[in-house]
Amino acid sequence: MVMTREEKLARINAHQERVNLIFEKIDSLGLLGKVMKLENSKILEYIKESGLKGRGGAGFPTYLKWKLAADQKSDMKYVICNADEGEPGTFKDRKILEEQADKVFAGMAICAKVIGAPEGYVYLRGEYNYLVPLLTTKMNAFNDEMNKLGLNFTLKLRSGSGAYICGEETALIESMEGYRGEARNKPPYPVEKGYLGKPTVINNVETLVYCTMIVLNEGGKFKTFGTEISAGSKVFSVSGDADVEGIYELELGMTIQEFVDLFGDGDTKAVQVGGASGFCVPRKKFKETIIGFEGVPTGGSMMLFNSTRSMYHILMNYMEFMQEESCGQCTPCRVGCQQLVKGIQAIKHKKRPATYLDDLVKLAKSMRVASKCGLGQSVANPFISIVENFREEIIY
Ligand code: SF4
Repeated sequence: MVMTREEKLARINAHQERVNLIFEKIDSLGLLGKVMKLENSKILEYIKESGLKGRGGAGFPTYLKWKLAADQKSDMKYVICNADEGEPGTFKDRKILEEQADKVFAGMAICAKVIGAPEGYVYLRGEYNYLVPLLTTKMNAFNDEMNKLGLNFTLKLRSGSGAYICGEETALIESMEGYRGEARNKPPYPVEKGYLGKPTVINNVETLVYCTMIVLNEGGKFKTFGTEISAGSKVFSVSGDADVEGIYELELGMTIQEFVDLFGDGDTKAVQVGGASGFCVPRKKFKETIIGFEGVPTGGSMMLFNSTRSMYHILMNYMEFMQEESCGQCTPCRVGCQQLVKGIQAIKHKKRPATYLDDLVKLAKSMRVASKCGLGQSVANPFISIVENFREEIIY
């Protein structure tokens, strides 16, 4: 069934009103006093039962991350909010920070209580520096509230410098410590040895808001949404050849077809789920592909492409982005990104045979296992999914 734009908007708005956890206006600071009286075990139980997984895209169970940090014996611990939103096509954390910073801070305070951290940091993407005055004002008010409540927790703000790699949690820590943003070897994980060598929980902006809402509502409606594997809802940034663009909170578990029916322009041939590190889903797989951890996970980026788009140019765009943003520390990623860019250019300009594409796919697969961090490991996602589904467009 083809819907008009107005019909699509009506359906999307009805869906959002039903879900409405992230942008719901509540007095989270006023309610924090009550939450802080809860037993830590009760808070962990709410988070565990909710089934919440990290909304940055990796999907690690949030309760487990908190518990692992809580179990560490240390004289100092930290909570960090990862607000280094740099994935191409993702622009929803900035709206959350603009409109719901108190709920983000409340989530950090709840986490700090559970793990025993007296300090927290918001690591803000360099390009979002326009938010510094707003966040500083809100943070000062939050710190005053913590004092009034007699709680030992202080928030501070740190700005990044615009490096994509600093969204990776160990590179973020390196940057916060004043070093070049480069990923560390794992283990040890930040929950054991993080910022300044101390146990540290790093959660995404959106994850922290869900923590606030789940604990305030004792689980509440969050767990009534989604699927067994992908509980709850998620905020999406919709862009590209979309009839309806923007930022929307939707229940997890819908198919790409359902998504395209709501947001597409009627001519969608591919959806890139999860940005430059995500997967390209072609039209023939729309009906069978679920948006969630059992299908295609996403930190929020949903880019729609219609038949006017060249998948060669889209692939080149992603590969050049990865080449530019690779920190250069490990050879598979540094050299691999360069070779993928050069390789697809050479095939397009007939300097290499079409069969060379198979060698490039093998290279991308080896980068998945041999690269040091998520950046190099994820290059294969867009590369292979675009090449396998749009081979003709890459070659000719
Ligand atoms: Fe740096 Fe890429 Fe290696 Fe990660 S995979 S450490 S970004 S070179």
